[in-house]
Amino acid sequence: MDTVVTVSGPFAASPTVRRCDVGQHPLQPGEQWWRITDPSRGWANGHGVACATHHAQVEATFSDGHAYRVGGLFNDERIRWPQGPHLWIDDDHQIRLGIFLTRPSRQEIAAVQTGKARFGWTEQGVNGFLLFRYGDSPWNDAPFNPQRLTTPSTLQPLPRGTHTRVATFLVHADTGRIAAMRMFSWPAYFLNHVIASIHRLAEHPYTELAAHAAQLDFYRRYPDGPSLHRLVRTLPPEAVCLGGQRDDRPH
Ligand SMILES: [Zn+2]
Repeated sequence: MDTVVTVSGPFAASPTVRRCDVGQHPLQPGEQWWRITDPSRGWANGHGVACATHHAQVEATFSDGHAYRVGGLFNDERIRWPQGPHLWIDDDHQIRLGIFLTRPSRQEIAAVQTGKARFGWTEQGVNGFLLFRYGDSPWNDAPFNPQRLTTPSTLQPLPRGTHTRVATFLVHADTGRIAAMRMFSWPAYFLNHVIASIHRLAEHPYTELAAHAAQLDFYRRYPDGPSLHRLVRTLPPEAVCLGGQRDDRPH
């Protein structure tokens, strides 16, 4: 699909990482670096290295809507989407959460734009679910099953202490246009918990019919925000995080 810029890091200095690709200058010995994924820059596999200064510049452009902008199409080829949340987790840790609503209210838009974000992950039989909440809006969920991917997931865990950017989009389901967008980071412990779960899910014997039935069963047990909230409270500490949480340790 189309592009979004992601930033992960900082990573410790490494003898094999010598240049800031964004600023095109050598890194100092011992200098931390960030990984930028930006398919529009023409880097091998879309990945490049940034120093602290250039990483900050990249983040500044991408919070302005580098590849996506409010009012623009979420996907240039689509103007209609099924209602509800959809989660994409690509192998390069590009993570996008799209929430598709026919008529998002002012409160729903404000919650995505400015609300405190909470995330949880639950593995339920053959399915995984990202649980999320913005501001005062109810808990919601996005199912994710790696068996539905066209190519098997090769996601690798990230080093502890790093953070990964997660892009959230609230999209008008009937026009395909972005109503609100926000970038969050996930700490590595949470992302790695999700990745470990995705690898387990990929190993399960799988049929689409059984996965669908299990999903319906999940929604019978957790039909609304309050029931999802009760589920979140039962999750282990490593299965929850705050969007933008600075420290990489569960609470
Ligand atoms: Zn630089």
